[in-house]
Amino acid sequence: MEKVPDDWPYADEPTACAACGSDDDRHVTVDTLGLVWGAAMDGGLAPTAVGDYGGTLRFRCCHDCWTSRGIDALEEVRTLVDREARAEGDRSFALDDEQVAAAAKLDAERVAVGDFRRLDYRSDPERRHVRSQDEAVESVLESWFDSE
Ligand SMILES: [Zn+2]
Repeated sequence: MEKVPDDWPYADEPTACAACGSDDDRHVTVDTLGLVWGAAMDGGLAPTAVGDYGGTLRFRCCHDCWTSRGIDALEEVRTLVDREARAEGDRSFALDDEQVAAAAKLDAERVAVGDFRRLDYRSDPERRHVRSQDEAVESVLESWFDSE
């Protein structure tokens, strides 16, 4: 298996609540969210810094944060894109406010990488397409946080 780069901020294993740091036994583990969305978390990697890797993030959340701090908005979530909302202006997609706000409460240092793989591009155009998606995610997240 591909090894996660040493300089990434993420933990080896999710051992504490990513929101408050509690090691409460009553917790939920979420392992569906895509790697690029770590950028919404506190100290997470920007999509363009993730480079040629794909995968998911894996984090633990205590019962209290899950229900009272709204982290449950991330249950089974793979992307923070709101597929129902219309994109505004020159943006190509919109974000789900509730989900981004929940992700922003997580400390990347307590989040681990779940699935992890090196992306295998079949062609240069495919690679460029993935890169431009990464840039789009990055800029839409930046403007989301700017407007907070
Ligand atoms: Zn917690």
